Amino acid sequence: MTQIKDTTELDFCDVLFMPKRTTLNSRNEADVIREYKFKYYPHTLKSCGIMAANMATTGTFEINNVLQKYQAITCLHKHYDFQDTKNYSYINDNFENTNSNGNAYTFISTGLKDDKEKLFKTLSDKNFKVDKLCIDIANGYIPKLLELVKEVRAKFPHLLIMVGNVVTGDMTQDLILSGADIVKVGIGPGSVCTTRKLTGVGRPQLSAILECADAAHGVGGLVCADGGCTCAGDVAKAFGAGADFVMLGGMLAGTDEASGDLIEKNVQTNQLIEENGKLVLLQKKEKYKQFYGMSSQLAQEKHFGGMACYRASEGKVVEIAYKGSVEGVIMEILGGIRSTMSYIGARRLKDIPKCTTFYRVNRQLNEIFGKS
Ligand code: 5GP
Repeated sequence: MTQIKDTTELDFCDVLFMPKRTTLNSRNEADVIREYKFKYYPHTLKSCGIMAANMATTGTFEINNVLQKYQAITCLHKHYDFQDTKNYSYINDNFENTNSNGNAYTFISTGLKDDKEKLFKTLSDKNFKVDKLCIDIANGYIPKLLELVKEVRAKFPHLLIMVGNVVTGDMTQDLILSGADIVKVGIGPGSVCTTRKLTGVGRPQLSAILECADAAHGVGGLVCADGGCTCAGDVAKAFGAGADFVMLGGMLAGTDEASGDLIEKNVQTNQLIEENGKLVLLQKKEKYKQFYGMSSQLAQEKHFGGMACYRASEGKVVEIAYKGSVEGVIMEILGGIRSTMSYIGARRLKDIPKCTTFYRVNRQLNEIFGKS
């Protein structure tokens, strides 16, 4: 019989942090670098916990090159072919932060339908300097995913494995007990995702993180909150709900290092100017970059040679206002998180959930008088 879960389900916009007495005198005293330990992966990793999504637009070498300076992670998109010597040498030679356990801040990605033998060949290559794998499918409840996780873990006991996506504690635990170090949480919250519209499936992201983090931590695993962050405050809220990592697509898109051409458009402003004796509205040029969902029709055409007939597009294409270098974006996010930490009294990134009390609110932004 149909059941209704009549509990309160919350999104980032439904809560605000309660400020608390703090021992921090300045945001500079907040340490945003955490030393991560994993259930299976035998090394530790010092990181700020922010990850670039493995989307074709944001999971790029160029983003990786910048983010690693901030100890932020990039999940490279799966369309880089590492049998290709150009990509292979790039990953092996071009990164500054390489250490004995590989490119510290780099994951490679795969899906269920990708060439497993080719992936295993790459990962078995002793000279391949990435030891972190993101197994990413939209519906992490598929039994084949558990099988693949078990197989990869058995073959590569020392690999850092992140798997997703799910939104419930039971499946989070299943994936961790099958061999995942990190489970990716989020169905439908992504900025260019239309899953909720097309299928009616999904869960508000803050509640999903709260449940999955609790479940993961109970069995020694970690979670990555994937999707739905629109500003630094949302990233802080994801950490506050218990996420160990936070994955970003849209927030890092539109930057120099994201892939895609810069589009220039004439946009009409509200400002009147005089032109040839007449008052006309001022036109100004604005720059945009294209950003698209990995299940959008555009992505299917670009990367998979067209849409399979049994599928429907679960992603959209948008134009994001040009933001300059991704360096400015990551600095702003880290600045915001430091500030959150100073408001709630969290000295270390790991302490954020312990120091978090959320107010439930019905409005988080005060933009009544127009946006800046
Ligand atoms: P954002 O940070 O832009 O809100 O969300 C990024 C996340 O959206 C990605 O990491 C991925 O999980 C999800 N995503 C990316 N493309 C698509 C798509 O086409 N359809 C759906 N359902 N989700 C997508």
